[in-house]
Amino acid sequence: MKNLESIRLQNVEESSTLAMAALAREYKSKGVDVISLSLGEPDFKTPDHICEGAKRSIDSGKFFSYPPVPGYLDLREAIAEKFKNENNLNYNPNEIIVSNGVKHSITNVMFSVLNPGDEVIVFAPFWVSYSAIITLADGIPKYINTTIQNDFKPTSEQLKNAISKKTKAIIFSSPCNPTGTVFTKKDLESYRNILIDHPEIIIISDEIYEHINFTDEHVSIGSLESMNNRTITLNGFSKGFAMTGWRLGYIGAPLEIAKSINKMQGQTTSANCSIAQRAGLIALEGGNECALEMKKEYLKRRDIIYNLLSKIEKIKINKPQGAFYFFPEITNYIGNKTEDGKVINSANELALYLLEDAKVSLVPGEDFGAPNCIRISYAASENELIEATQRLEISLKKLS
Ligand code: PMP
Ligand code: GLU
Repeated sequence: MKNLESIRLQNVEESSTLAMAALAREYKSKGVDVISLSLGEPDFKTPDHICEGAKRSIDSGKFFSYPPVPGYLDLREAIAEKFKNENNLNYNPNEIIVSNGVKHSITNVMFSVLNPGDEVIVFAPFWVSYSAIITLADGIPKYINTTIQNDFKPTSEQLKNAISKKTKAIIFSSPCNPTGTVFTKKDLESYRNILIDHPEIIIISDEIYEHINFTDEHVSIGSLESMNNRTITLNGFSKGFAMTGWRLGYIGAPLEIAKSINKMQGQTTSANCSIAQRAGLIALEGGNECALEMKKEYLKRRDIIYNLLSKIEKIKINKPQGAFYFFPEITNYIGNKTEDGKVINSANELALYLLEDAKVSLVPGEDFGAPNCIRISYAASENELIEATQRLEISLKKLS
């Protein structure tokens, strides 16, 4: 049969995070003892008070109809308060759109602001879906490459050089998926000092890992002077509140952009699930104590894995300051052979070898814009993580 897929979709690959997670699931279903460190998904349960609140909202019988397209007003008011109190950001409730997870928020934003050929500056390594969503929206991702030696942070000079007449927006995440890098106030100010000369560029700040930040200083670029009226801030409940399955994210955007996003959402998905929205409100009202508890666990795991990975001579790691990923550089293994003589030519081949030999699933760096690296998610139990790291060490030692 003829290829029925649209050319637009043919231009992007399947999400490699989801593909590796699916492969791990397939192995598991065949009885293979795979430890999956591929998906960036908290292994915690959604906190009880949030689940209980969601049940109450079902029982109330009040939330069975279509919610308003941008989300319930009381939820948007709570988000506006959160932005103000925790992030020093001033978005009015009518500048907030609640969407179906931050992946959907990004899709809404890109489809609302990009014209064909518009460039979006993306700090690389980047989360895999940024490039795909920009491409689907007819934009052109323009990467700024960084290295582990600089803790994966672009210099302001690099940012300056990446800007062209076609630049419409810039996107990055802090804390960053996949590197765990946290951009400090000083870093962000240095970017601001470049962006100030380009008032037409929209800044898209993905702060979904805000609550998993071991530096204890989360700075929103939109809170810096001169940035507030041109920054779109994205956040959500998936990571900090362990609510991936509820599909709940939100956007704070300057009013004109918020109106466009509202139009986009109104013509595509409409508002997201009413009960998920009620759960989000309860999460915000309940405060960040539960997120802090989970962060403590992630920090403990980060340190355990850091110590174990540091002992593997041929990989280079940095100490991630946030999110729940390690992103080691694996260049030393490229060109190595497996015991049965197969050459490892890429991070992708290394990930497949580790899945076969160590039975540990990771995500290769190619789709994060970093073909020399591989991503290890440590959103798994301590026992699994220790076992996985030992298995990785044994399998990596077999390469020469
Ligand atoms: N941004 C980043 C940086 C992510 O890692 C993810 C993956 N969870 C998302 C956005 C999307 O998250 P969700 O759609 O679950 O809110
Ligand atoms: N964002 C997570 C990750 O990077 C979840 C998977 C996805 O949505 O791509 O693994």
